[in-house]
Amino acid sequence: MSGNPNEIKLVNNAMSNVTRRKIMNFLENGERSTEEIGGEIGKVMLDFHLKVLQQASLIDLGEGTAKLSEYGRNFLKGKENKGEEKNTDISKAKPVEIAEVRQLLPCIADSSKFRVIANMAPPLGGTLKVLEPLFPRGRYSDRINALIMQKGEIITTIYGTGKVTMTMIKNEGEAGEALENLRNTINEAIAKGVAPAPREKVRVEPMEIYKYLPQTNCGKCSEQSCYTFAIKLMSGEVALEKCTPLKEPGYSTNQEHLQVLSAYI
Ligand code: SF4
Repeated sequence: MSGNPNEIKLVNNAMSNVTRRKIMNFLENGERSTEEIGGEIGKVMLDFHLKVLQQASLIDLGEGTAKLSEYGRNFLKGKENKGEEKNTDISKAKPVEIAEVRQLLPCIADSSKFRVIANMAPPLGGTLKVLEPLFPRGRYSDRINALIMQKGEIITTIYGTGKVTMTMIKNEGEAGEALENLRNTINEAIAKGVAPAPREKVRVEPMEIYKYLPQTNCGKCSEQSCYTFAIKLMSGEVALEKCTPLKEPGYSTNQEHLQVLSAYI
């Protein structure tokens, strides 16, 4: 691998899928038969997932077997080291309080709901990354130094600076309750002083993806219907960006949800 943009894209696409990440981790201990991989990870679309990993040069396929390529081994090693560098000692974190709810703005997608901006103090900084396993639909983003989580209709983002945003909130009472739950969950983990064990993420179903698509079957993504697009998004065959209508202002909250859900595929 020379690291040119196309190759990086292939690797990013391969590793964006949870099944393929599981396969990579399973192969860390050495060569396995496809039978063994199917038994451990599941047989659904196994050939497809193995092909995607092979195309990204992450694994080598033999006669009914698969193993990490040299590039794949180095890739996993690089990820481990990066994770170690960024881990923060949770025992040093202080319990947080919700200092203030600063603004209530109507949501673009549904003007009967609100977007809430609050402040969590003291700011959690890099500790946020360690807290990710607390939330079944939680994902830490290095790029924006924030923990993004989804629960029902509500997307909550906690930034390392202490800022907290919530979308699709019905009223101040719901905002208060959601923020209180968040504070309690985080403080319980801080009181224990140890990083929470990684939790299996909640599976995303095609119907959930479909729910947030425009559902107009316009065909601009070159698929027959929005549901077909949802299924192909799940299998990594299409990218979310292909649905251009999502870029229209009326769909901004839908797009936000889909971006969060895509992280758990
Ligand atoms: S472009 Fe978007 S709205 Fe149009 S069919 Fe595809 S998924 Fe549906």
